[in-house]
Amino acid sequence: MTLFDSPAFEGHEGVHEFSDEKTGLRAIVAIHSTARGPAAGGCRMWPYADSEAALTDALRLSRAMSFKNAMADLDLGGGKAVIIGDSRTQKTPGLFEAFGACVEQLGGRYWTAEDVGVSPTDLMHARKRTRYVAGLEGHAAASGDPSPVTAEGVFRGVQLCVRRALGRELDGVTVALQGVGHVGGYLADKLTAAGAKLIVTDVNAEQLHAVAERTGAEVVAPGAIFDAECDVFAPCALGGAINESTLPRIKAKVIAGAANNQLADAEAGRAVFQRGMLYAPDYVINGGGIINVAAEIRALEAGGAFDPAWVDAKLDRLMLTLEEVLDRAKAENRPTNEVANEIAQARITIAAEKKAAA
Ligand code: NAD
Repeated sequence: MTLFDSPAFEGHEGVHEFSDEKTGLRAIVAIHSTARGPAAGGCRMWPYADSEAALTDALRLSRAMSFKNAMADLDLGGGKAVIIGDSRTQKTPGLFEAFGACVEQLGGRYWTAEDVGVSPTDLMHARKRTRYVAGLEGHAAASGDPSPVTAEGVFRGVQLCVRRALGRELDGVTVALQGVGHVGGYLADKLTAAGAKLIVTDVNAEQLHAVAERTGAEVVAPGAIFDAECDVFAPCALGGAINESTLPRIKAKVIAGAANNQLADAEAGRAVFQRGMLYAPDYVINGGGIINVAAEIRALEAGGAFDPAWVDAKLDRLMLTLEEVLDRAKAENRPTNEVANEIAQARITIAAEKKAAA
């Protein structure tokens, strides 16, 4: 299969492959769209089985970033970088400096940031060779850990979906929370403060018990979370939680959480809809993190400081976008994931037309 035949390539502006013999760097930067602004999306370091697997991941993730950035109403397009390698054994400062040089070659068409396997320290090394890096620490523009902002967006999204689907506030509502890591942990605190009852699970026992202790949540084994008696199912671990084997077990009326790619495929979204459940599209509800990163890019570009008020205003707009998705899905009697994709694509197309006409 050639690159242009790959279904994941669809709509991409460009794909850039880089290698550096001295440091062993092998990286791919996929730029899906710069219609709304420079492409932005994290850099993932992963021991891909082969370069085709790395390419497919980069393409899939960069397109998702275009959609996420459009729904968060950011002047940013979508892109993603992947570095082929094991982040536990193959990281060196030189590798990330070389990666920074690759990003620099793209001349500002792509801004990189953190993703799986990449830390703020790695980004500091990349920063030595390029200014197109966000997610750094220790300077006035720095945005810091995005997880609390992501959790705030997810919390507001859960609240909205519960009002729509159950006609009530969160007080007394039962939420089954899969994954209490960075985002899930903050979300658990917010839900508890709003009076929700929690059923939680995590494969990390220490983290799980710490969250359960401070929130009074009921703890279940990872495999049992799908059978929990609950009103809301909140996937906050890895992707693919909603699939043909888990869905029949989930009793919730609302599915709303932080994880990326919650639906195993588009069919799963249709099945959720057919079961009368309300699904908050993941890349809409979890947009708080990229809003936080965008605030850093904005501050770096202007030579100013990080502005939390700008982040808050964008979060408010994100919730209006979620409402738009839910309203339209209801009016047209269609799955929310399909409606969200259409709105995101339309926002990108309008920006591309404006850019072409300018
Ligand atoms: P994290 O790694 O801190 O937390 C994930 C948690 O899920 C971990 O505690 C892990 O032990 C647990 N887990 C993994 N597999 C599990 C399983 N099978 N059952 C139960 N628990 C399991 O990650 P995070 O930053 O909290 O992100 C959570 C999700 O939200 C991810 O899908 C991430 O891509 C997405 N997301 C995060 C942000 C952010 O700001 N951090 C932004 C947008 C989306």
